[in-house]
Amino acid sequence: MTRIAYVNGRYVPHREAAVHIEDRGYQFSDGVYEVIYLHHGRFVDGEGHLARLARSLAELKIAWPMSRRALAMVMDEVVRRNRVRDGILYLQITRGVAPRNHAFPKASDSALVMTTRHLKFVDPTVASQGVSVITIKDIRWKRPDIKSVSLLPNVLGKQQAEEAGAYEAWMIDDKGRVTEGTLSNAWIVTGKGEVVTRNVDGAILNGITRLAVLELARSEGLRFVERPFSVKEAKSAREAFATGTSCFVKPVIRIDDKPVADGRAGPLTRKLMQYYADHIKQPAGMGAA
Ligand code: PMP
Repeated sequence: MTRIAYVNGRYVPHREAAVHIEDRGYQFSDGVYEVIYLHHGRFVDGEGHLARLARSLAELKIAWPMSRRALAMVMDEVVRRNRVRDGILYLQITRGVAPRNHAFPKASDSALVMTTRHLKFVDPTVASQGVSVITIKDIRWKRPDIKSVSLLPNVLGKQQAEEAGAYEAWMIDDKGRVTEGTLSNAWIVTGKGEVVTRNVDGAILNGITRLAVLELARSEGLRFVERPFSVKEAKSAREAFATGTSCFVKPVIRIDDKPVADGRAGPLTRKLMQYYADHIKQPAGMGAA
């Protein structure tokens, strides 16, 4: 079956999908994106992703390429044409094509591309093995709260992690505190059994998975707090994990050369993995694909 991508109004074979060389996303990383998980043909937290997209666009003053309703229809159509039931949808909106000039063009239509691919949800009973993370300096710009396609520091960090045999790199701010991973949010469980993730202070992307897990922690009566935590605190934590659309809830069992507690996925992490699995399986909200 031919993979189909959506490119500026057209559904085209994936291998032929292309944008103009003067697309501002290509030249300036002047664009934003979202990655949304689909479980059994339904978008998981689709409304949350579109709300964050709206925020990212507004922060960068990029116009919607079409109405929200029309966008949702294209999302459904891309999924339908690719017959993806379990997978991810990638969507990217840039400020469009214009002669290269740093300031915004007077007139340009926002450019929209979408792709989708299969990705099976790994059930927590299978996925509880856990991964290693390394710690690196956070060298990103000061607006990582915007989900922009400007991801070079994230790319370098993830590459460094892979070269070190780790899954992810946790980025550290000037005060020695963890901001987040290159593609996931960072969490620990303290010795007192409190679930901790950094507060939304402009230094992190407010992950949709992060928000879902916070809500699950709240509704299940777990003790949690949103605050910064140091690398030192993370290394002596009882448990650690990462959250993100493509990694779900992932136990972190080693930070640099230090095992987290006994080096196995902890009980609260496993609980949250199970709650999140249940959440994925009963997604509230949009998606008629
Ligand atoms: N932080 C960063 C830097 C990311 O790229 C991602 C993945 N988009 C996340 C956190 C997790 O966000 P979400 O749960 O919305 O996928």
